[in-house]
Amino acid sequence: MRYPQTFIDDLKRQADIVRVVQDYVQLKKKGANWMACCPFHKEKTPSFSVSPAKEIFYCFGCHKGGSVFNFVMEMERVSFPEAIKLVAEKSGVPLPKLIDDSRFEAKRHEADEVIELNKWALEWWEQQLESSGEARVARDYLLQREITEETRKTFRLGYAPDSWDALSIHLRQKGASQEQIERSGLVVKKEEGGSYDRFRGRLIFPVLDIQRKPIAFGGRTLRNEDAKYINSPETAAYVKGRNLFGLHLTRDEIRRDGFAILVEGFLDLIVPYQFGIRNVVASLGTALTPEQAGLLGRFARKVVVNYDGDNAGVQAAKKAIEILLAEDIEVKILVLPDNSDPDEFIRKSGASEYGRQRGEAQPHIQFVIDQAVRNRKLSNPADKEAAIDEVLPYIRAVRSRIQKREYFDIAMDSLRIGDATLRRELWQSIRVGAADGSRVAQPVSMRMVKPTVAEQRLLELLLADAELRHGVLPKLEPGDYDDLATAPIFRALIDGEREGATINFDFLSQRTEGNPVSDLLLSLLMIEFDESEEGQFSARQLAAERCLDALRLMKVDRLISDLTSEIAAAERNGEVERRDQLSTEHLELARLRSALLPKAEAMQTGPS
Ligand SMILES: [Zn+2]
Repeated sequence: MRYPQTFIDDLKRQADIVRVVQDYVQLKKKGANWMACCPFHKEKTPSFSVSPAKEIFYCFGCHKGGSVFNFVMEMERVSFPEAIKLVAEKSGVPLPKLIDDSRFEAKRHEADEVIELNKWALEWWEQQLESSGEARVARDYLLQREITEETRKTFRLGYAPDSWDALSIHLRQKGASQEQIERSGLVVKKEEGGSYDRFRGRLIFPVLDIQRKPIAFGGRTLRNEDAKYINSPETAAYVKGRNLFGLHLTRDEIRRDGFAILVEGFLDLIVPYQFGIRNVVASLGTALTPEQAGLLGRFARKVVVNYDGDNAGVQAAKKAIEILLAEDIEVKILVLPDNSDPDEFIRKSGASEYGRQRGEAQPHIQFVIDQAVRNRKLSNPADKEAAIDEVLPYIRAVRSRIQKREYFDIAMDSLRIGDATLRRELWQSIRVGAADGSRVAQPVSMRMVKPTVAEQRLLELLLADAELRHGVLPKLEPGDYDDLATAPIFRALIDGEREGATINFDFLSQRTEGNPVSDLLLSLLMIEFDESEEGQFSARQLAAERCLDALRLMKVDRLISDLTSEIAAAERNGEVERRDQLSTEHLELARLRSALLPKAEAMQTGPS
């Protein structure tokens, strides 16, 4: 059940945020804003402010902020719908009828049902593995894999008897209806009606979610069938690619270690776990998905990918690199000797040898380069070009500028690209990062974005003043902001201006959703300009233009510094013509710089 969105929007406009906050905190008017000592953290001088015009609050001390609803939620420790109710009551606005989300409710109910049936099935399969005569083949298999009883219990392994209906009968005895059994995915529906058990004569690996509920199963054959593994289909409780196998057991260890080892299959996780290596997760057959990377990123910012060394494994590892980099996760690649998988390797060579191998895992870029030059001759221009094309996307995806440059230099050296112009062109083509939309997932960075003083000031000015936006935004060129951390905000402003949208917190946070810069919005929006100083339009306009000049100056400075190192390289290699040509470019940039300098001088340009 929820309130209609139009009502929520109206209520936010009608509710006076100052009056609502006033109920809890003594506010004092200061300029266009109201200030107080923050109710959410201890302080002596007020840094908590409320803007009635922008309908937001923000604390410069503890960075809490948001709409009137966020304030009430935080203050009263209530849910969003409850906050709406409270704000409506305080504002004398009658509440509308709740929208009946019964479809959503039904879905949740169905998911609970599936999990209930999964629990019954799992308990029964565990019993079978423990004691049935038929399960001897499964127990022998585990024995041969050196999997102990303790490990079997920890991972709740089971055995599904070789029968078309033994599980179905068991579930019906427990009280499940035929419809429920069919919805659970534990059976396969027959075209002519009825169903038969999906898992037959197989060792069962349950997939437990982070609350340890069984949401799906994998079954391994014990008699050399074509399908070595079969898995649950998607159900109301299980969507493929959203979960990581083993995470419920390994997440604390992963958090403690600061990195995770990513493997493919069930046993690649279970065996290392038994041998004491417990910061492992498995992506489960399918290629790693952005959702899985996002989930993993909540526990570790570094990942060692340890997939099989065969061709399929290499392709899967490359895909995983791309997806992990998009989440701003540092990636290394571990390929074990003789292409063995973690399960085999650890049983053969032991955990400490595995640990040693892991310590020597390659940075992702080295792995990608090795793959790109394999079977190619770098002396052949076409081969070289193909290798460059293969490698560059993995550098472009790196989010830290310093790391990106380092990887770039390693790649250029390994691919024997000496030509300075080409190197510079290639660097220019990747320095900005992936173009909008081309990334698989929006990055979720844990780093705080630190804008430079000039970009921060420029954004504050632009956000505060619609007239200024009309004047300044058309003058901005993509090159002015493209490689700034706050580029998404600039883009949102320019789009908003073009679409004639109302520029406010809601609009901007929608347009920058999922990007770390959205955390900056409240502090940028909350700045007020007092009348004496920058209160007048002409003064603000001048200030904005100075900021823009400062940004352009910083960009020229970066170009000059790139060029300087290239000139030095040309000098070293005795490429006289090259050097002279670069020096001419250098001279032009220096001229541009001295034109920008006096205008930008008044503006401080360092990082804030
Ligand atoms: Zn605070």
